[in-house]
Amino acid sequence: MTLTDPQLDDLIKAIGLKKPSGGQRKPIAHGTVNGAKQHRWRKEPLCYPCRIAEAAGQRDRAAARKGVTK
Ligand SMILES: [Zn+2]
Repeated sequence: MTLTDPQLDDLIKAIGLKKPSGGQRKPIAHGTVNGAKQHRWRKEPLCYPCRIAEAAGQRDRAAARKGVTK
């Protein structure tokens, strides 16, 4: 059986594999401030966990400016 490219893409996504010769380097660390940065670097919309993490990171920085420590 021969798979077309879209079918192959679906299969790769379904089994969670990365394309061997994909242009993307590191996988995004979703749910972290770094992950949010990676989304921005790739000019793609942030996923929900990354938006939450970024918002939390900004809250932490704002708290740090006020002198609140954890
Ligand atoms: Zn993400």
